[in-house]
Amino acid sequence: MKMFQNLPQKHRSADISIFSVMSALASQHDAINLSQGFPDFPIDPELGALLHEATVKGWNQYAPMTGLPQLREAIAADFKRRYAVNLNPDTEISITPGATYAIYSAFSAILGPGDEVIVLEPAYDSYIPNIEMNGAKAVPVKLVPHTFAPDWQAIKDAISTKTKAIIINTPHNPTGSIWAHKDWNQLADLVRDTSIFILSDEVYEQLIFDEQSHYSIVQHPELRERSFAVFSFGKAFHNTGWKMGYCIAAPMLTQAFRRLHQFLGFSVNTPAQFALAQYLSLDKREAPNTLLQSKRDYFLELMKETPFTLLAPAAGSYFQLASYAHMSDLPDTAFARLLTEKYGVATIPISAFYSDKHDDKILRFCFAKKEETLKAAIERLAKIDL
Ligand code: PMP
Ligand code: GLN
Repeated sequence: MKMFQNLPQKHRSADISIFSVMSALASQHDAINLSQGFPDFPIDPELGALLHEATVKGWNQYAPMTGLPQLREAIAADFKRRYAVNLNPDTEISITPGATYAIYSAFSAILGPGDEVIVLEPAYDSYIPNIEMNGAKAVPVKLVPHTFAPDWQAIKDAISTKTKAIIINTPHNPTGSIWAHKDWNQLADLVRDTSIFILSDEVYEQLIFDEQSHYSIVQHPELRERSFAVFSFGKAFHNTGWKMGYCIAAPMLTQAFRRLHQFLGFSVNTPAQFALAQYLSLDKREAPNTLLQSKRDYFLELMKETPFTLLAPAAGSYFQLASYAHMSDLPDTAFARLLTEKYGVATIPISAFYSDKHDDKILRFCFAKKEETLKAAIERLAKIDL
């Protein structure tokens, strides 16, 4: 129809995200889905019971625009305990329907036409479209090959008078790398005499392995003043489908964020907020990093039986990278499709995380799965014969 031809093109990224493409392909071919990042194991029954309890107790109407006070207070207490930082739950924490929404809203609060945002690639796929949807321009800068550490010289070179923000992500999707302490200081040095904002995507903060600890931007007194830090309950509590998250920002930035949020979603699922507030306050949850590290180790061990070459073990996140460069010349999108259709295992091709579709013949495997799922997938991968 003619009227559909002149819809504005709000972003130049994929019409259908790679996660939808690969999950649909997986179900079409009855493949084991190690593509989209979501756990296939149950949540703590206690958390489920709290959600039920919330609906029975009548927590079924709109929550306050900023989020239920008891949830914001529980988050502040959690950050005090885990990061030794003081957060004001009224002026610095906003509850959001997931981290993706928080990232969009934070961009929306600060960006206008002509602004530029530096994006470190490979990057989570919503960043660039979100920047473009707000009329601004993404300036991609590649992470250092192999280590996926930030390339500080390249980042410095990409800064211009138009640079409004830099978006960072640690632990990192899709590579599983984490920032070193020195990276935070490099970032602080770089932006010190500028008015550049930082969006810090820390959704995997609780999934960090090998006795390493996450350093949050909210712990950095200087960077904290200019940053929006976004978090997702989905990753910490294995309930990605609840789509619950939060944004921590200094009071002035929180005000700007809420000015938009009140007219975007206004408020967030009340019973889920009640359940999460109670659950956080109990503080007897199992450490998610221990569980996910054992899954990573199980996956790494079994993958040795396959022809893939593993990249460095994931230091955090849900994801492990592996190369098939020595096995096939196919582009990674075609190889991922072949793996799904012929061998019954769905993965994510890493070129989907680069705006120039850079292809090193690397796939992302999600190991946030039951051991039996990982075992069954690897039995299939071990049979690959090209
Ligand atoms: N950032 C990164 C790096 C992610 O991997 C994800 C995936 N869920 C998100 C943000 C979005 O989180 P949510 O599901 O809470 O929107
Ligand atoms: N964060 C998840 C991933 O990287 C899924 C996100 C999504 O489905 N949009 O796989």
